[in-house]
Amino acid sequence: MSKARFEQLREQLDQVNLEILEVLNRRAELVSEIGLLKNGKTTERFDPIREKEMLDKVVAANEGPFQNDTIRHLFKQIFQASLNLQEEEKKSLLVSRKTKAADTVITVGPLTIGNGSPVIISGPCSVETPEQMEAVASHLKKEGVVLLRGGAYKPRTSPYDFQGLGVEGLKLLSETAKRHGMVCVSEIVAPEDVEMACEYLDIIQIGARNMQNFELLKAAGNVRKPILLKRGLSATIEELVYAAEYIASRGNSQIILCERGIRTYEKATRNTLDISAVPILKQETHLPVIVDISHSTGRKDIMFPIAKAAIAVGADGLIVEAHNEPAVALSDAKQQLDLPQLSNLLHDLRTSGFLKDAAP
Ligand code: PEP
Ligand code: MN
Repeated sequence: MSKARFEQLREQLDQVNLEILEVLNRRAELVSEIGLLKNGKTTERFDPIREKEMLDKVVAANEGPFQNDTIRHLFKQIFQASLNLQEEEKKSLLVSRKTKAADTVITVGPLTIGNGSPVIISGPCSVETPEQMEAVASHLKKEGVVLLRGGAYKPRTSPYDFQGLGVEGLKLLSETAKRHGMVCVSEIVAPEDVEMACEYLDIIQIGARNMQNFELLKAAGNVRKPILLKRGLSATIEELVYAAEYIASRGNSQIILCERGIRTYEKATRNTLDISAVPILKQETHLPVIVDISHSTGRKDIMFPIAKAAIAVGADGLIVEAHNEPAVALSDAKQQLDLPQLSNLLHDLRTSGFLKDAAP
């Protein structure tokens, strides 16, 4: 064979490889489209009868020089690769960046969460009295904080500790927030209360102890209110993402994730703040991610560095508990800042450029 002919055959072979590549990818696109149609349906992705039909048709058309067995083997490989492709696509969750590249931005009253400018959520651990709520809310408003928190259903370790004011607490929180032109967030612990809570709250919180209360997650997915979902005490990042997916899968994509510390052997802080969860969650999901600097640390003396760290790694907001008289608070007395301490923290964050919103 002349050298020229040899080169010519090689060139032809290169060309055929490219044609096979194009045809394989065209096939993969069709497979993806079929996979989308199957999504959410009970249809099994692997359909042996359909596969046999396809193989029989291909073998019947085979004129060689490949043997039928070789053709069967090659096409089985192609079918398997297609099934793998469908499986991979199925795995990309609604909350995943792979499904939606753009950040989810949540608007609540005058506030925008997830637009690159961190927000502050503050207020007492528990809603206690009208006087307490008024004192805290009026102070926060003066400080430019517009998202008021306060627990009405308190998941306490001991059944003998203050359990919260229930619906009266929600009403008090909501009325106080409205009076000051603020918006409010509070934890709901029972699936049957989610709809009722929509009347009072601008954001519904699902607490750490309920992150895998799947019926509660489903109920949260059925309403059209933003949900603040806190990471469970011993939950992995993946479990938090799946918990968010429960909500999103019911049609509610307004979800704010919250890193609030996890259980470790360390006793110097109440929990161990997993700071790396923030960039990981921001990378893997399109949801806003905030950090609870009070429940993660359980201490007041490291609020400023922890707040800076959270914002530095990309947090879209901070939760910080504040009370007009922390010493007599009915829950989490040790970790709640008093009002001047909260003002100092906000001032320090603003003057150091960590909080972009201007002081009021
Ligand atoms: C809270 O924010 O009031 C609370 C109880 O926090 P967590 O669920 O993170 O413990
Ligand atoms: Mn608390």
